[in-house]
Amino acid sequence: MAAAPRVRFAPSPTGELHLGGARTALFNYLFARQSGGKFYLRIEDTDVKRSKRQYVDQMFDGLKWLNLDWDGPAVFQSGRSEFHLDTVQKLLTEGNAYRCFCTVEELKKEREKAARSGEGYGYSGKCRNLTVEKIQLRLNRADPFCFRIRIPEGEVAFHDRIYGLITVSNREIDDFIIQRTDGTPTYNMTVVVDDSDMKITHVVRGDDHLTNTPKQIVIYQLLGRSTPEFAHLPMILGPDKRRLSKRHGALGVHEFRKMGYLPNALLNYLALLGWNPDTEQEVFEPSELMETFRLEQIQKKAAVYDEKKLKWMNGQHMAGRSAADLWERIQDMAPEWRANVDKDYLLNVLDVQKKRLKTLLEIMENSDFFFVDPSVYDEKTARKRWKDRSTSELITSYAERLTQLEEWDQETLESELRQLAAERGVKSSSLIHAARLAMTGVPKGPSLFLLMEMLGSETCIRRLETALRKLPSSSHPRQEEPSAG
Ligand code: GLU
Repeated sequence: MAAAPRVRFAPSPTGELHLGGARTALFNYLFARQSGGKFYLRIEDTDVKRSKRQYVDQMFDGLKWLNLDWDGPAVFQSGRSEFHLDTVQKLLTEGNAYRCFCTVEELKKEREKAARSGEGYGYSGKCRNLTVEKIQLRLNRADPFCFRIRIPEGEVAFHDRIYGLITVSNREIDDFIIQRTDGTPTYNMTVVVDDSDMKITHVVRGDDHLTNTPKQIVIYQLLGRSTPEFAHLPMILGPDKRRLSKRHGALGVHEFRKMGYLPNALLNYLALLGWNPDTEQEVFEPSELMETFRLEQIQKKAAVYDEKKLKWMNGQHMAGRSAADLWERIQDMAPEWRANVDKDYLLNVLDVQKKRLKTLLEIMENSDFFFVDPSVYDEKTARKRWKDRSTSELITSYAERLTQLEEWDQETLESELRQLAAERGVKSSSLIHAARLAMTGVPKGPSLFLLMEMLGSETCIRRLETALRKLPSSSHPRQEEPSAG
């Protein structure tokens, strides 16, 4: 049996955890956990200027919120520089790296020449074979230098778990820089040292790194270290088919959290960005993802981000959660929201709203009528649903009947309304719409009778009476400035 995989998520803390990063983390996590493997987190913070502690914290928070727990403490790449530099020295000593004294101007000229001839740029290898004396001379002059890898002849072939066999001739890989003039090692160098030291067995990352992989494999080979397997994930595109970026809307995981998305819904949606489970099923709980996910079922084709679908997915997950769970999450988002309301009533509200709305924020923004009388009535709805005196008369009768009721439940409230409509020869729906407007002030809401049952007789009758005072009673539609009821 193959050894349990060891994988890592290796974000650079130069920005917040975005959807692409979260998806990479998720696929690594699922792949590791489903076979008892390890999932590590490595913070690639060697770019001192762009790396920020606040992004590291956000990364931790975001991953924890998504429940993508990693093994052991996070590894900070900045704490490993001695290993990186030692490895560069080893490559140098063994003749697999060399000092390059080319100046910025020289390299610029090389690049311009390549551009003129229409060829892709690759370092010319000018410093590849400097004599020991020449090197010493330049060192004595304190000329600045960087270190470059000495790419051997041959080719790199590897089997990507998603892309299949990839073969690259070493002629296409130039002697790239492994340690800069300022002494800092470059990404391709550090990533190999760290992945190798962490005994990573599978590197699962975005396909923007596909061109780096052959370079990294050469380093593994020159160091005589074993090469991990690779799986490169398809890009995520925006609806305009361009690479997903800030332009396409909220992209940081913490923004989705603030907008009232559930972590499981986001995970579910992210999993389907590129992974094709080959079933009709679309809604997956994390445990189901764990069971079903296969690295091999990831498509090469770029995935397209669809905010509507994500929202729909969130609605599906929200409907399946208990009201108590949703309440806890709302408190996490906005601790003061309806803090003084009776808890049982509040949970009932959440139970009703979770089935018809798509995010927690939508619930928070569209539930006022459960708690306070409407202070305004949507103008368009009033024009359409409360046209004239006849509506007022019907509502007056309904209110009167309600005061006589002995039972206050959905069924009674409904049959009373339908009976009245039948007696007056009007459609029940016209009465329902008008009553809903009186109860909520807005065009859409939950089932009227359920709402009325929850609100209780006193509140309902008061709301009908207020609406009767404020909404048009003449045949000329008009909209008064409604005041609090
Ligand atoms: N820090 C790199 C990035 O965020 C990691 C790439 C890798 O996984 O090797 O793109």
